[in-house]
Amino acid sequence: MARMKRAITTGEDGFAVPDRTAYIPRMATILDLIGETPLVEITRIDTGVCRLFLKLESQNPSGSIKDRPARAMIEAAERDGRLKEGGTVVEATAGNTGLGLALVGARKGYRIILVVPDKMAREKILHAKSLGAEIVLTRSDVGKGDPEYYQDLAASITQRTPGAIFINQFENPANPQSHEETTGPEILRQMDGDVDAIVCGVGSGGTLTGIGRYMRDASPKTEMVLADPVGSILAPLHNTGKMTEAGSWAVEGIGEDFIPSVLDMTLIKHAYAISDPESFTAARELLKREGIFGGSSTGTLFAAALKFCREQKEPKRVVSLVCDSGAKYLSKVFSDAFLAQEGWSGRELAGTVRDIV
Ligand code: PMP
Repeated sequence: MARMKRAITTGEDGFAVPDRTAYIPRMATILDLIGETPLVEITRIDTGVCRLFLKLESQNPSGSIKDRPARAMIEAAERDGRLKEGGTVVEATAGNTGLGLALVGARKGYRIILVVPDKMAREKILHAKSLGAEIVLTRSDVGKGDPEYYQDLAASITQRTPGAIFINQFENPANPQSHEETTGPEILRQMDGDVDAIVCGVGSGGTLTGIGRYMRDASPKTEMVLADPVGSILAPLHNTGKMTEAGSWAVEGIGEDFIPSVLDMTLIKHAYAISDPESFTAARELLKREGIFGGSSTGTLFAAALKFCREQKEPKRVVSLVCDSGAKYLSKVFSDAFLAQEGWSGRELAGTVRDIV
């Protein structure tokens, strides 16, 4: 496989070192750059007795972990004949899935219609539009069952549009399958077959379910750890067995007020609820100390991973993810003015991250 021939070799400690004379692959299309993302160890922040590694899903071509399922869901629909040449793909999405679908659609010549609640960040709308997607803005303040609710509107647009399919990532088996076939095996390979825990968030549940299913068979000792925003129903449900009323949170892309059908909660071994200020601080410190630029959900995962690592008595090898790039969140996570406006400063932001250098 061309992608394996990276311009790097492996040093004695297992880390890759640049080899400036090696063959650098030439890709047929940008879609060939989806997946095979690098893993980087955390070395300047205290991880207790554990070693913590982050997989940079921000390196995917539209900038997030959702490129993998976006391509997989479109290609599954092509294979089963539902999506024909020049066909139309509809999805209800407030973020990265839409960008992934828009990228794949641009390359493959499909019409992409994204139904988007009107609170979605302007940068993401402009990015999706620039990739050629059509954006249908709808109300954010209505719930399931209302014809203007983004999921219901996407379903009705699909019915009214000849040759259209509704991707529906929350129920689409190709979503977790893409992580079972790519993200999971890549992590185990990059960790030389030795990984004790993987810390994931849940938006649709595709990442956690896919990686968890792969590890259940290929590395049964690997524990799946849920990183969930405070306000989401998932961590309380795992920790107490009780359904709670959902609250609200500022972190984007993860946390749920329902249980998506692609999510297999039985795969979860531990769960942490992380507050918005903790998530934002963790993302900022990750950039400042390690130079790794992740978004708000990356902050939630990183804060939960640090908690898990520091609670361990025995040394463990832990992996988490940089779900998308911090560039989409410069005016929120990385803005002092925004944090001050939210009233987060001083003591509230201290203590999440401890330096070791
Ligand atoms: N982080 C971000 C920024 C996301 O957009 C998403 C997808 N909503 C996730 C994490 C979680 O991924 P999944 O849908 O696989 O649960």
